[in-house]
Amino acid sequence: MRFSKLFAPTTKDAPKDALLPSHIFLIRGGFISQTGSGLYNFLPLGKIVLEKIRNIIKEEMDNAGAQEISMGVVNPSELWRQSGRYDAYGKELLRFKDRKDNEFILGPTHEEVVVDIVRNRINSYKQLPLHLYQINTKFRDEARPRFGLLRGREFIMKDGYSFHASVEDLKREFDLMERTYAKIFTRLGLDFRAVAADSGAIGGNGSKEFMVLAQNGEDDILICDRCEYAANVEAAKRAKKTTTETPPKADFAKFYTPLNEGSIENLSDFFKVSAFYTVKAVIKKAIYKDKTQIVVFFVRGSDELQEIKAKNAANALELVEANAEDLKNAGIVVGFCGPIGLENVQFFIDNELKEEKNLICGANEQNYHYVGVSMFNFKSERYADLAAVNEGDLCPCCGGKLSLVKGIEVGHIFQLGQKYSSAMNAAFLDQNGKSQPFFMGCYGIGVSRLVAVMIEANHDEKGCIWNKQSAPYILDIIISNVKNEIQKEFAVKLYEDLKAQKKEVILDDRNERFGFKMNDFELIGFPYALIVGKEFDEGKVELVSRALGKREFVNIDEIHDRLKEVF
Ligand code: ATP
Ligand code: MG
Repeated sequence: MRFSKLFAPTTKDAPKDALLPSHIFLIRGGFISQTGSGLYNFLPLGKIVLEKIRNIIKEEMDNAGAQEISMGVVNPSELWRQSGRYDAYGKELLRFKDRKDNEFILGPTHEEVVVDIVRNRINSYKQLPLHLYQINTKFRDEARPRFGLLRGREFIMKDGYSFHASVEDLKREFDLMERTYAKIFTRLGLDFRAVAADSGAIGGNGSKEFMVLAQNGEDDILICDRCEYAANVEAAKRAKKTTTETPPKADFAKFYTPLNEGSIENLSDFFKVSAFYTVKAVIKKAIYKDKTQIVVFFVRGSDELQEIKAKNAANALELVEANAEDLKNAGIVVGFCGPIGLENVQFFIDNELKEEKNLICGANEQNYHYVGVSMFNFKSERYADLAAVNEGDLCPCCGGKLSLVKGIEVGHIFQLGQKYSSAMNAAFLDQNGKSQPFFMGCYGIGVSRLVAVMIEANHDEKGCIWNKQSAPYILDIIISNVKNEIQKEFAVKLYEDLKAQKKEVILDDRNERFGFKMNDFELIGFPYALIVGKEFDEGKVELVSRALGKREFVNIDEIHDRLKEVF
């Protein structure tokens, strides 16, 4: 490519709403342009990067035995009604009608469509397993589209869906995908972790997220300092918490506790005991498809409720704050709510409180608490993992220390099981001739998000720093002064030679000042520049590494050898 012909509208100014380096530099470097909130176009340089990332993903997916297809972006709502997600998915799902009043959605993910493709076409266990994937446009009407390509409304995803005759085979594919994703992100040169995750709206059990560790990440991840354990805070576990504080020893009794405000702080002050031995009630209003209901979550006074864990325990679509009237109607005595004698109210207790003794909790009566409480008499369905895990807590696998880091989610793999196949009547005949819904897995990668992630992971104050795997061009040959015919001739010849060898090279042949061209080199972030300039008369050209900022003079007759290393 010749720079003089390239459409790369670089600018000095970033858009006002651009806060993150990837957003700023991708716009300023002329990689992308914006047409609306969360809506972006890929310009020539951005498109090359996108294709390079796409190709790596495709290669590894094909190697793993998956087959590429392409599904429509517009999907009939009817399919989403069959799975039950038409109502469950919420406002991210963009719904619309055609001229005949038929209802459609823009696909935010494609489980329904792929099930429709496979059902009645695959009938026997002999035709399984099958893994179909696409790299295609998605639309999610995100509440807060921001950070450029990191959270768009229209974006590009690699989404794969696998079909199996057994859970065991699904697990095998899940593990294969975990390894395949690790290969993809390693090839891209990213520092990532596979973390235990919440399964969210897609549903099913067993899911892992791939997180690139980056300062500007939106996700909080806990990682162990000793072993491989890593988990999203939404799903993180810890070794059961203990304390060296003395427990408040007392026989079971109801105690008069006239507290101004029934907070845990006041309560532990009142009894002069550690909050560890108190039980905290967190009261929420749970929203279900056809009702709302007050739900109480009990955790240790020294813990916080993890909302996603709570939402999953209650199997709710959403949890919202309950107002005073809701609480009154449910008969909750605010500040004195406890699990003992709590009637006609749904409640859950954190796993770590199971079989604990010497606790203090509300007595469901104004100004009274129970002391000497043992958590023995509750049904096992009452217990769930509810407590938020924090930095400094201990690893559930090895007891090492957990620390909190920021990550950007680049991939997510799920074991869906039979959720969609049973809802949508997609079945096969097993070895015994019995009809069974398919066992399914699904596997996503944020392809357009990765373009931005490459820059979040690698940039400086001047601009982008691409590695060779993702760079739009690896070498930028800069003719310092295009009016110097001898220098120009050399540069053009070198460029033509390299191009003939199919090297990723661009020639900056623009009639611009040298400084201007260097600025573009640094902003766009090609891995190397070769400057044909002043020293050419002494038989030398200058090779600049963008990442290291290193400059070296290379003798003209050695240039081809040196460049071999560069590519
Ligand atoms: P997030 O928590 O970031 O919203 P998600 O859990 O909704 O992600 P999935 O449904 O698992 O995402 O989608 C698969 C992948 O698609 C994600 O890992 C992410 O890389 C990418 N992705 C999801 N939403 C967006 C978006 N709005 N813009 C760009 N990429 C996205
Ligand atoms: Mg999302």
